Amino acid sequence: MTYLAKLGELTLKGSNLHEFERLLVKNTKDCLKDKDVQVTLHAGRMYIDCKEEDFEIVEFTLNHLLGITGWAKTRVCEREIESIKQAVLEEAKIQAEKGCKTFKIEARRSFKQFPLNSYEICCETAGVVEDLMKVDVHNPDCIITVEVRERAFVYCDSQTGCRGLPVGCSGKGLLLLSGGLDSPVAGYRMLRRGMKIECCYFHSYPYTSEEAQKKVEDLAQKLAYYGISTYLNIIPFTDVQMVIKEKAPEAWSTLMLRVCMMKVANMMAHRVHASCIITGESLGQVASQTIENMSVTEHFAEYPLLRPLCGLDKEEIIQTANFIDTYETSILPYEDCCVLFSPKHPILRGKVSDAEEIYKNMQVDELITESYKNRVIKKFNFDGTVEQISE
Ligand code: ATP
Ligand code: MG
Repeated sequence: MTYLAKLGELTLKGSNLHEFERLLVKNTKDCLKDKDVQVTLHAGRMYIDCKEEDFEIVEFTLNHLLGITGWAKTRVCEREIESIKQAVLEEAKIQAEKGCKTFKIEARRSFKQFPLNSYEICCETAGVVEDLMKVDVHNPDCIITVEVRERAFVYCDSQTGCRGLPVGCSGKGLLLLSGGLDSPVAGYRMLRRGMKIECCYFHSYPYTSEEAQKKVEDLAQKLAYYGISTYLNIIPFTDVQMVIKEKAPEAWSTLMLRVCMMKVANMMAHRVHASCIITGESLGQVASQTIENMSVTEHFAEYPLLRPLCGLDKEEIIQTANFIDTYETSILPYEDCCVLFSPKHPILRGKVSDAEEIYKNMQVDELITESYKNRVIKKFNFDGTVEQISE
């Protein structure tokens, strides 16, 4: 069997096309390393030839691969009408066994020298199916597709792909990943634009539990299925939080926490050569996410601060969280920040000048550097393995 994947947006990208295609093939091979598969590319289609034992992993790969609009498992046959009819018949038998009563043939012929045109291919092949199912061009139970290209392909059940651009074509971003709903979705949004992401999680043990960290690790693994691999940097942040509690005005504590996170994020981004910082903030979602407060956080970021969810509402975010299978993990009860540190009346419209003053008074720079240095790094791979990295 051969899997056929349709390339998405890539086909629009003029001179960069080859680079994108090369990356897509490389990413696919990386996902399927150690497997006995052949990945090839031809005229806007990618083909994966594999053995039956690898069907499952190949389909998992295609369901997570960014840069394809759809895929199908196909029968490949000679570019010759008798072989095509035979393949259509075999496919039709399977569909009839599944309970399909009506069918339609869709034929495409990009190999123009083929003696029959699309309409004629439909007529010829429909003939062999009619003993098994009835034709219904308006509302068929199954559509059997025939594509005559460099080879001939016959398939049913084409699946939609994730679309987007192949990961790695848009540089690297540093994602601030909490255990909540939003940040994993923000990460996925950027992955989908071709950006490789590295993650950073601020952990305030024992105020935030080990379960909270485990949740973030599970989310990082889910992102690794789309990003092929991802690093998670776990930053011990208890000491910094204690200083914020002690020295910042209570109303400012959440905002100051974000500011301190930004300070570490700057160091991290520099260290891993990320060109931007990504958060899951969405305008107006919570008190810390007013435009004024977002400007305060932004002021302390030394890299472009991307907020891909900025204009989305919760429903839209949840939809994507369900799609990427992070929803169930994200809604587990373990909080990523402790109520002990959450002000009753948080400041709604922080001023940058006040923030600078408060930050200076906290004298927390050294502790921040310390927390950055004490980070624990884990690498999550596409195959589900995790590596502890030491620097
Ligand atoms: P999320 O659902 O992603 O947790 P949220 O709606 O809870 O977001 P906030 O708690 O205000 O919003 O956090 C805003 C953003 O700051 C998060 O989306 C995330 O990018 C970052 N962030 C917050 N807490 C942490 C943390 N403990 N570690 C890493 N990043 C964090
Ligand atoms: Mg949160």
